[in-house]
Amino acid sequence: MRLSQTFIKTLREAPKDETAKNGALLTRAGYIHKEMAGVYDYLPLGLRVLNNIENIIRDELNKLGCEEVLMSALQNPEPWEKTGRFSDQEVDIWFKTELSAGGELGLAPTHEEPIIEMVKKYVSSYKDLPFAVYQFQNKFRNELRAKSGILRGREFLMKDLYSFHTTEADLDRFYAEVEGAYERIYERVGLGDCTYETFASGGIFSKFSHEYQTELPVGEDTIYYNENHSLVLNKEVFEDDILAEFKVKKEDFKETNGAEVGNIFKLMFKYSEPLELKYADEDNSTKTVYMGCYGIGVSRLMGVIAEKYSDDKGLIWPESVAPFKYYLVGIGEKGLAKVEELYQGRENEILFDDRDARPGEKFADSELMGIPYRIVVSDKTLTSDSAEVTNRLTGETALVKLAELFK
Ligand code: ATP
Ligand code: MG
Repeated sequence: MRLSQTFIKTLREAPKDETAKNGALLTRAGYIHKEMAGVYDYLPLGLRVLNNIENIIRDELNKLGCEEVLMSALQNPEPWEKTGRFSDQEVDIWFKTELSAGGELGLAPTHEEPIIEMVKKYVSSYKDLPFAVYQFQNKFRNELRAKSGILRGREFLMKDLYSFHTTEADLDRFYAEVEGAYERIYERVGLGDCTYETFASGGIFSKFSHEYQTELPVGEDTIYYNENHSLVLNKEVFEDDILAEFKVKKEDFKETNGAEVGNIFKLMFKYSEPLELKYADEDNSTKTVYMGCYGIGVSRLMGVIAEKYSDDKGLIWPESVAPFKYYLVGIGEKGLAKVEELYQGRENEILFDDRDARPGEKFADSELMGIPYRIVVSDKTLTSDSAEVTNRLTGETALVKLAELFK
C-alpha cells in the first residue's frame, strides 16, 4: 500500500470525545473512524488487522472441522419468543424495528435461535450429528454505556460457534477441543501470557461456564487469580462455598481487572428443547440435541491488543496481526529510487511511505501506526548495499544487507 494514495491520514491529537486509549490511538493512527458512541468504521489499516485476527480464528476452527456460514442480522421474533428472549425484560439490549409491510424485526445480539431454526431443516437422524457451525458476523446490542472504544460497541464483530451432539460425552469432547483451539488463538494474536480461562457462572448442569479474560487495567470485569494463575475466577463465582469446592481460600487470590475476550458454554438443552431440535436415535426414539456455544469478540480483541501493545509513540502490533509487516522509507535520490524497486511485488507486506514529507514525519507515523519493522534506505546505507531496519517493539536498529532484507 502506498501512503501517497490512501485517503487516510494520521491525526496529531485524539478526538476530544474519545476517552478510551484504544479508541484514541486507533483513531489517531488511521485504523478506525467513530460515527457515534459505540459505532465505529474500520478503515483500510483497521480492516487488515481485523481480517488477520479473523483468519487466525478461522484457521484454528477449521482444524477442528468446524464449518463457516454467514447468517443474517435481521431477526424474525418467532423463535426468540419461544425461548422467551424477545422480551425487553429478559434481554434489555435489543435493537428492534418495524417492517414497512407490518410486523416487528430485531437486529441479532447473538444467534442461538436462528441457527437452531436453520439446522433443524437438516437434522433428523443420529447420523446427521455431531457437527459445528460458526460465523464472523456483526452483532447489535443497545449497550447502556459505550465509552470503551472498540472494547464495547453497539455494533461489533463476533465469532460465534455452535456445536450439536447426541450425547453429553460428545459435547464434553468437543468443548475440550475448543478450549485447545482458544488457547492457540490467544497465543497466536499475542495475548497468550495474559489471557486466562476463567470460571464463570451460568453453566447449565456443569454449574460453570468459562470466560477468557485478558488482564487489562481498563477491563470492565473483576477477576481473581491464584499464585501461578492455575485458577482464575470471575466476580460472580468468587464465593466462599465455591472456593471450598476448589479447596482454596479467598486469601490465596489477588484481584485484577479483565476484559472478556471470549466465552464458552455447554448449553445442553437450553435452546434445543424449547425450539424442538430433535433427532431419531439408533433405536428410533426421539431425542433432543445437546448444544454448546463458543464466542470470541473479534473487534474487542483488536482493541485489547491495541491497549496492551502500545507506548507513548503509538501502537505496537504483534507481527501476526499487524496490517503490514514493513514500513518503507527512502531518503535521498538513490534511496528513493531503491525503495521503489524494493516495493515492487511486495505490495501486500509493505506499507510504503512514498509521501512528499520529511523523514522525521514518516518515522513518527511508522511508530504511531505500529508497523513491526521500519526499513530505511538512504544514499548512506546504500554505500554498503544495506538498509537500516528498526524493530518497533524493541526499538533496536540494525544495518541489513539488501539481499537479506526480506529473509
Ligand atoms: P460482556 O459481559 O462483556 O457484556 P457478554 O457476556 O454479554 O459480554 P457474549 O454475549 O457471550 O458476551 O458475547 C461473546 C463475546 O463477544 C464476549 O466474550 C466479548 O468478547 C464480545 N462482546 C460482547 N459484547 C460486546 C460489545 N458490546 N462490544 C464488543 N465485544 C463484545
Ligand atoms: Mg459476560
